[in-house]
Amino acid sequence: MGKLLQLIMLGVVAWFVFRYLLRKPGLPGQDKAPPPAGAGPAGAVMRRCDFCQVHVPEGESTQSRGHYFCSEAHRDAFFRGQR
Ligand SMILES: [Zn+2]
Repeated sequence: MGKLLQLIMLGVVAWFVFRYLLRKPGLPGQDKAPPPAGAGPAGAVMRRCDFCQVHVPEGESTQSRGHYFCSEAHRDAFFRGQR
């Protein structure tokens, strides 16, 4: 009985050591690196609406005078607020 318990304990310890080694930086682990800021999951360029701070793909954004917006309504509201 004691021998079996020892074997289980050894297995648990070995499992923890294995997990620890996988987490070590530099080794190809299973942890996924966070996507770089400003890039979407599909590699699309994300632009932040300067009015509501929501991120939208560049193709769906509205650009005006160096500013990006999620919609034309927010673009108008932004420039209305600036003046
Ligand atoms: Zn917006």
